[in-house]
Amino acid sequence: MLLLVRSKLQQALMGIKDVNELSFLMCHELRKCPGIVGVAFLHKDANDVMHLDACMSRDDDERSSFAQGCEQMLQSARGNTQGLLHALIHGEFVITDSLAKIADQKENRYFHAMGVRTIVGTPILAESIMFDEAANTLGALCLMLDRRRNLPREWLEVMAELGALASFGLNIIEWGHEKADLMRQLRDMAMTDTLTGAANRRSANDFMEKEYRRSQNENLPLTVIMLDVDKFKNINDTYGHEQGDEVLKVITHIAKSQLRETDLLVRWGGEEFLVVAPNTDADAGLALAETIRCAIEQAPIEGCNGVTVSMGVSQVAAGERIEDALGRADTALYRAKETGRNRSIMAELVATV
Ligand code: GH3
Ligand code: MG
Ligand code: MG
Repeated sequence: MLLLVRSKLQQALMGIKDVNELSFLMCHELRKCPGIVGVAFLHKDANDVMHLDACMSRDDDERSSFAQGCEQMLQSARGNTQGLLHALIHGEFVITDSLAKIADQKENRYFHAMGVRTIVGTPILAESIMFDEAANTLGALCLMLDRRRNLPREWLEVMAELGALASFGLNIIEWGHEKADLMRQLRDMAMTDTLTGAANRRSANDFMEKEYRRSQNENLPLTVIMLDVDKFKNINDTYGHEQGDEVLKVITHIAKSQLRETDLLVRWGGEEFLVVAPNTDADAGLALAETIRCAIEQAPIEGCNGVTVSMGVSQVAAGERIEDALGRADTALYRAKETGRNRSIMAELVATV
């Protein structure tokens, strides 16, 4: 019977998504085996503290007293340097055939009333596949049996295999999380400019398309701001290219700190940035541009003084293509340069037909 459960678990493990699912599955399958009164699945959390993840008794009406017994077992094990759980936590396989050996009287009573006579515990060990590290304990699987038994050797082997299966299940869950993390990192990398950490042009286009559609459909204002560093060539020539890079990073940091969660800062190219501000009209956009410009002008940038930027601001008009609004912002930026730099200029409105 135990062998049957093992092969069933083997098949089911591949689809497992989280620890709850794993512990439920193992307890649910194992409690059906003859001689088993209850099953408990213990698992260490991120702080290395052992918790009862799932426990199931053979008879449903004994569920709550079994859960209490298991919790009691965990409580009494904390800070205790002896006993069943302590050994399990340290990676040992344990058989307790005398309940008197369980130090805590309360848990003893719960288990005794349910007819538990033997407890078999197998540790769930983490065995790193990639590195040759010493195994550490991730959790434990405890089977409560109804008789004092001399357990046959094969039975114990299957028990150890169940521990290995649980460990395998936990690894699969871990891989799932790692894979999701890697995918997220990969996506972030593909969307971000490496030097500054601002969004790159590709992600800006996706963002603008989405916000453009929303603003046109819901009749909400959408404003774009073009930002260009003044005399950046001079900064490079005077302080060196590396210092120039540093200036771009500081500018990114300052600009981001002035934006709302819903705005996007993009490195549009070289020393040129774009702010996409949804739900913002031209006046609010100009105010935002001025806030960023002043913050940059006033920020002490280590190694070079007097870094300033110029800005061109345009609100996307109803029915206007976003490319045309960007063109108008660019023209305004050009005028800011022409008229002395370190300033923000509002774009000309779209000519109405
Ligand atoms: P203006 O005020 O008219 O904008 O003058 P400017 O010097 O900023 O403009 P120009 O277009 O003549 O020069 C831009 C310079 O920015 C030239 C280029 O070498 C430099 N640059 C572009 N990308 C980077 C970068 O990633 N790092 C550094 N350090 N420099 C860059
Ligand atoms: Mg420039
Ligand atoms: Mg430029």
